[in-house]
Amino acid sequence: MGGSVTKPFHALVHLVRKPHTVKIPYEKHTDMLGTELPTERYRGYHVNDIEACIGCGFCGRICMNAAITYVEIPELKGVTKGLPKRPVVDYGRCCFCGLCTDVCPTKSLKLVPKYNYVDEDKNTFKVIASPLLKKNDGVKISRDYLVFSIDDLHEKLGDYIDEIIRKKEEEKKKKAAEKAKAKKENAKEEDKSKQEKS
Ligand code: SF4
Ligand code: SF4
Repeated sequence: MGGSVTKPFHALVHLVRKPHTVKIPYEKHTDMLGTELPTERYRGYHVNDIEACIGCGFCGRICMNAAITYVEIPELKGVTKGLPKRPVVDYGRCCFCGLCTDVCPTKSLKLVPKYNYVDEDKNTFKVIASPLLKKNDGVKISRDYLVFSIDDLHEKLGDYIDEIIRKKEEEKKKKAAEKAKAKKENAKEEDKSKQEKS
């Protein structure tokens, strides 16, 4: 009863709430490159951190539109965690519900407020979401990400995978050097304590 008496006043709360809409032309959202974007929460292209993604397949399994398939990237085997496959999104089927990003266990998959829905070539809408490779490659999205056509996948991913391999090898070398240094220091300490005892 009390609720129904106060109910008409609940609407007044909206007078002081921040609106969900953007006041164009007074408000603008831009990415770091200055490109104008829709609202921050707009669901556009997917971006995926290929290094963090583990190829688990959850995103494809949850998608009710069968918009996600996977591409095998054998070069990733042993270089990154999980399976060497990564999601490919077909924007001819996707409805931007965001379920795939919700279930992603590594949180590598995200939707960003950037889009392009007009093109004569249907392959434009099949993309692998990936981190930034080189500036000017494909479509720039917010921060360090871009999307490119599946047709260019191996050519463009090549450099990125080489970079991951190089990084991992450097890390390995660094760890081995640190281990060797620690071993040498331990041996020195042992020698010193032996000398002191004798
Ligand atoms: S946003 Fe929704 S429809 Fe699009 S790929 Fe993800 S789960 Fe499928
Ligand atoms: S994007 Fe996420 S859910 Fe999809 S395969 Fe990669 S880790 Fe799994």
